[in-house]
Amino acid sequence: MNIKAFLNTFSNTVRTLPIVIIYVTEGCNLKCLTCSYRDAMPGELTLNEIKKLAGELAGFGLKHIVYSGGEPLLRRDFKEICGVFKSYGVKQTLLTNGLLLEKKYETLSEYFHEIVISLDGAKAETHNRIRGLNSFDLILKGMEKVVKQKDKSQVISIRSVLQKQNFRELPDFIEMAKSVNVNRISFLAADVTSDAFGREHGVGTAVQDSNIVPDKNETAEFRQIIKELTGDYKEEFENRFISESPQKLMKIVEYYEALNGSNKFPVNYCNAPMMSAVITSTGNVHPCYFLPSIGNIRRNPITELINFPSIKETRKKVKSFEMERCKTCVCTLNVNARAALAGRF
Ligand code: SF4
Ligand code: SF4
Repeated sequence: MNIKAFLNTFSNTVRTLPIVIIYVTEGCNLKCLTCSYRDAMPGELTLNEIKKLAGELAGFGLKHIVYSGGEPLLRRDFKEICGVFKSYGVKQTLLTNGLLLEKKYETLSEYFHEIVISLDGAKAETHNRIRGLNSFDLILKGMEKVVKQKDKSQVISIRSVLQKQNFRELPDFIEMAKSVNVNRISFLAADVTSDAFGREHGVGTAVQDSNIVPDKNETAEFRQIIKELTGDYKEEFENRFISESPQKLMKIVEYYEALNGSNKFPVNYCNAPMMSAVITSTGNVHPCYFLPSIGNIRRNPITELINFPSIKETRKKVKSFEMERCKTCVCTLNVNARAALAGRF
């Protein structure tokens, strides 16, 4: 039982931090339309700083570390970083664009409970256009290798960001995931309302709403596709091969309808700042992917930062649905009190 995590769900002060997302680098080897991460930031946290951070997090009840970025597999000392967190016995998840999977899987596979591979098209042409480079074939090759070599307990999943250029491929995504034999597939909407994903640095490709947001006719078509999926993939929804329920997939459409003026934004139930934190490659700490930094671990230990007055105020606003950013957010984390008590992170 995790009483501290359970108490987090009610309070503005956190007594433990079970989930941490860390950008081990903000450098990336792809050029996605909706993201500006390209080169590594100067002054990335060193391995020694990450070791110190890991010790503090472990002492504060860390259960699950999620490697994000940028592309984590580009970090030269990534194996050492994974080894540090392994020594604390925490669950490790890798979020990757998959480009280096084929090359690096063997040396790193022992560390991950789950590998989440981003794919933005069920067809090579679509994926390569959205991701800015011819990468589809290599990613698929990597995915096939991983599925073949993986340990039974390791979960391999595909994550696809649905938007104007690929929503019609939704059934093809599911078919492809089945044919490659991954454990599951999940879907998200593209974030076009925040400066997350490196866009605050003002480098790389700025997101063009009209290229990403489906218009009114297209959202009507998107709705119909999801309705048809509900019947065609009943079993895949039930056994959670498709991570989201049909209702949750419909929220992606509602989000785009809100952006094209034909609906209001769906209500978001999220407690990310009560259960997790995001730490960037240079040590900035954020309550979630989308809310501003509250400080830097080079100036204050994470255990202090995580209960600074500003973040307690943020938690209060998130809980009472007063946080403006949350109203248009595409990504939510909701660990309910029962799951928190049971330690399901
Ligand atoms: S979305 Fe991911 S893969 Fe694409 S440029 Fe950004 S960090 Fe790289
Ligand atoms: S809804 Fe979005 S912006 Fe709000 S706390 Fe959750 S992840 Fe952050």
